[in-house]
Amino acid sequence: MNILLDVNIVVDICSKREPFYTKVLEIMDWLDLNDISARLYAGSVQTYQYVLMSELLSRDKKNNEKKGISFYKEESKYLLSSFTDDLVWISALSEDGPVYSDEDPEDAQLIKAVNRMGNDGLLLTRDKRLLQRFEKAISPEQFIAKYVNAEKEWQIPIPFCDLKKQLDEYRPEMEKAISGVIESTSFINGPAVKTLAEDLSVFAGVKHTIPCASGTDALLLALMALDVKPGDEIIVPAFTFIATGSMVSFYKAVPVFADVDPVTFTIDPESIKKKITGKTVGVIPVSLYGQCADMDAINKLAAEHDLWILEDAAQSFGAEYKGRKSCNLSGIATTSFFPAKPLGCYGDGGAVFTNDDALADKVRLYANHGQAKRYYHSKIGINGRMDSIQAAVVSAKLKHFSAEIELRNKVAAGYTERLKSIVKTPNVLPRNLSTWAQYTIRSEKQDLIREKLAEKNIPSAIHYPMPLPKQEAFAYLTQDDDFPVSDMLSAQVMSLPMHPFLKDEEIDLICSVISEAVNE
Ligand SMILES: *Cc1c(COP(=O)(O)O)cnc(C)c1O
Repeated sequence: MNILLDVNIVVDICSKREPFYTKVLEIMDWLDLNDISARLYAGSVQTYQYVLMSELLSRDKKNNEKKGISFYKEESKYLLSSFTDDLVWISALSEDGPVYSDEDPEDAQLIKAVNRMGNDGLLLTRDKRLLQRFEKAISPEQFIAKYVNAEKEWQIPIPFCDLKKQLDEYRPEMEKAISGVIESTSFINGPAVKTLAEDLSVFAGVKHTIPCASGTDALLLALMALDVKPGDEIIVPAFTFIATGSMVSFYKAVPVFADVDPVTFTIDPESIKKKITGKTVGVIPVSLYGQCADMDAINKLAAEHDLWILEDAAQSFGAEYKGRKSCNLSGIATTSFFPAKPLGCYGDGGAVFTNDDALADKVRLYANHGQAKRYYHSKIGINGRMDSIQAAVVSAKLKHFSAEIELRNKVAAGYTERLKSIVKTPNVLPRNLSTWAQYTIRSEKQDLIREKLAEKNIPSAIHYPMPLPKQEAFAYLTQDDDFPVSDMLSAQVMSLPMHPFLKDEEIDLICSVISEAVNE
């Protein structure tokens, strides 16, 4: 529910205007209880103040207590700033300007603003004309009857990953970042991308960051920069997202699958050892669900066999391994800013990280059509660039990312506390700090638990239902496809809703449904 407060409602509350005040307060309490933040329209700032001043003044006049005008100015500012403190301001856009042909320009603005809030937008108002002309306008009486006193308890669906709540938390910063790029019209290779590269390098402690178009492109660009040749063998985990293996195939190299560790679900160094041949050139460990693989053991193998290591950190930007940051644990690393990743943009995005100057130069070259100078191409490259709007979005979110990682860890601890005796909960080793890209449990009752969650409108997902070696796309490889740990995980894992703003009551509900399902 997205509910915008009309001026009369705001003035009712701020001035405690009888007899309306009590009803509106009842609604505000209900919104609070349901964790819905009421919205205010930025285009109404002066009207809120002007009408509130007039109301305070006329009331004092009636009581013969009239004070000087500066009192009402200050009082209205004070009341409005305390009331609006934890509400969400909705922008006035330029389309809200030309409204003078409307019978009531102010109403026309509100209607535009509410219509932009989507299908579940509402305008709470006592204005008779608005209630008549606008189908999304609702009076306090109607609202109380329909929602507050509703027979069925109002239930807000639990999102798997709550991007809307996150937007409301940082809305002014996000809008400012995006509109700054639009105003600059510098959409490709603009200053926002350069700023992001610097910000990410500082965050991860890596010398070079090259923002690019997606996590998949980042993998491809890293393989190009590593000078992978057709037929080269590259060891990848059997249990991961398709892109880890598919980019290897796409670049005409050969993905060779290794099984994963049954405790962390990340690639097992023992399994890597068994797959190394004379043709092996590198290994791509995946920091699955936000937890890094055993990078020291993997780097040691690499040194012994003269291999490169590319960390697929699509799920783990911000994670730590033995006090060092993910993306700074091997020769080269990649991440993804897909919206649902722990640090996501508002579209597709990714990045390549390295401390090696020569590798960084190659990635930059390949990501931009193999050109160092415009229209002079020294290499065959791709268009793998990140656009400036995505860069500005990631930079704005990065400021809150450390706090979000902390919150994600609290949510995970809350799940584990409630679930540890019921199902197999995730194991994050003491050497690791996870970003909890997913909170993934294991149970032999995978289907049943997911069914019971779905009945209660609680989303869940299987990451991943089929190991890579069994995928049709890799059938051409004719490799062994028996990976006992990966096969077991596919049959047993399920990921639960995970985001920094998941509340204790929601975790309680999710866990009680799981507990019931398991004990059935
Ligand atoms: C998400 C993901 C990718 C791909 O990232 P995109 O930005 O979606 O292209 C690659 N590897 C892993 C492990 C992922 O989770």
